[in-house]
Amino acid sequence: MRLTENPLARASLPFAVAAAAIGVGYALSVGLAGYFVYLGVTAVVAAIALLGLGVVTGTAGMISLCQLTFAAVGAFVVSACNVAGVPGGFVVWLLLGGLAAAVAGVLVGLPALRLRGITLAVVTLGLAAAADLTLVQIQFPGATEGLSIERPDAFSDDRSYFLFAVLVLVACGLVVHFLRRGRWGSRWHLVAFSERGTAAVGAGVRTSKLTAFAVSAALGGVSGGLLTGQVGLAFPASFTAIQSLALYVLAIMSGAHLIDMAVFGALLWVAVPELLKRWGVPQDWGFVIFGVLGIQALAGRGNLGTAVRNLWYRSRKPTGLGLTDIPEVEPLPPGDPVLEVRGLSVHFGHVRALSEVDISVPEHGILGVIGPNGAGKSTLVDVISGFLPRATGTVTLDGRPLTGSPTRRARRGLRRTFQQDRVPPGLTVGAYVRFVARRRVTGREVADALEFFGCPPARTPLSRVDAGARRLVEVVGHLLARPRVLLLDEPAAGLPHEEHVAFGRRLRQVPARFGVSVLLIEHDLDLVRSVCDRLTVLDFGEVLASGPQADVLADPAVLKAYMGETELL
Ligand code: ADP
Ligand code: MG
Repeated sequence: MRLTENPLARASLPFAVAAAAIGVGYALSVGLAGYFVYLGVTAVVAAIALLGLGVVTGTAGMISLCQLTFAAVGAFVVSACNVAGVPGGFVVWLLLGGLAAAVAGVLVGLPALRLRGITLAVVTLGLAAAADLTLVQIQFPGATEGLSIERPDAFSDDRSYFLFAVLVLVACGLVVHFLRRGRWGSRWHLVAFSERGTAAVGAGVRTSKLTAFAVSAALGGVSGGLLTGQVGLAFPASFTAIQSLALYVLAIMSGAHLIDMAVFGALLWVAVPELLKRWGVPQDWGFVIFGVLGIQALAGRGNLGTAVRNLWYRSRKPTGLGLTDIPEVEPLPPGDPVLEVRGLSVHFGHVRALSEVDISVPEHGILGVIGPNGAGKSTLVDVISGFLPRATGTVTLDGRPLTGSPTRRARRGLRRTFQQDRVPPGLTVGAYVRFVARRRVTGREVADALEFFGCPPARTPLSRVDAGARRLVEVVGHLLARPRVLLLDEPAAGLPHEEHVAFGRRLRQVPARFGVSVLLIEHDLDLVRSVCDRLTVLDFGEVLASGPQADVLADPAVLKAYMGETELL
């Protein structure tokens, strides 16, 4: 039985959680002792900064060790607005602070486009240290005069300011939630998991990273502004590089890409130093504790958020394919060539991966490319889709040369899948498929296409879909994009034999159903025989034979190359 979805309940859930959070915030603001109210604001400020880190590190998979520098930008703008008496009051200043920090985020993100991993870590930490020193030099506006920040009128005392902070946190939480559920969020997940996968969809890797940096920094800016309102005057000591580092560690270890875990991390941020103080232990030990926990998280032991969720899901088995019978559909007769490849050659050092390869995919046709391991099949797909620019030869799509980056080629209607898994586990099947389609698709269209291939329903998290079925989800996403040509690199490799055959029957209907021509790389000759009208055989990077299926499979040269498998033919 299929569970019926209730879209209304799903859509209103975030708002219900938000209302509950505001209710709790109100109760705490009234009920807590004064000192804890103050700590509460600190926790909320940290939660917003962690939420931002969750976007850039947890979701988009980049390292940013200067979150408090962005917070300082927000604090600086709020202080400057306070000194200048900018109209609109604190709320407007806070928004301006967030905006300025977002701009700073893009500026940091730009060079970061070329950097990854440890290099990005060093650069962002260096920036944080430099900003730290600069702040001590120039001080915040109004600091020397001791000009205190004017809080919003309705929230001027500490208790109501705590409530105000909770309101800001809830607003930030909602923004992050909806961004992550939308296009940007899908991009972030995808770019974190695979940059090549992102480009193959036709989505810019650069914009994906920059938007993540901007949103993350904006949240940092808001947290810095909020902190300034709490303490009345901003001090450089609140925004040091070592604190940025500790905050990053906390984000990693709590799993701050999950909103509740960002709040949990923030509670630790406040509780650990507080407990150390009560126990009479020097506060610097807090950094040591965060460090050890962070190493645990970075060493692949996972973070607390994921661990908690795994406990929840452990009892459930991963979802595989659920195949039903499909009616036969008459294949369309193949037409003129859509994709033509002429004289393609690629070398890797002394290895000739491809030499003078010609290939032609007819409209509504399925061309099979077969050949032993290392024959150059995946290299061929890489060249056609633009991932290996140093190849020689020509590729044309609909008679026009197909050139430029993978992103550009994808946008012209050439899509590809990968032999390795490039499907990000952080999304649901539906969110991923819609993102890969990169056009407006109805829920019906998505559901039909998934059902046709026997894939799990749209709302299933990809982390719970087994590897073989995940590859077919990738195929469905690209088909929904309605490209001119789809290149499939051993799409059924992870499937058991009978599912393999069932996939072949469906693939055969793809040109008629989706209007897409297909180049299929495959090693299972049964599948090739049942699906492909024409075949090209590659061996050591050269075309051994090419033509109608029956002729190619009867070719003595092909029989020889496939010696071990002759009984299959
Ligand atoms: P297939 O997909 O047919 O199994 P590939 O296209 O992956 O084969 O590889 C073709 C040949 O090119 C192999 O000899 C492989 O070792 C070599 N090759 C592929 N990619 C690279 C690379 N990035 N650097 C060096 N050699 C490579
Ligand atoms: Mg391969």
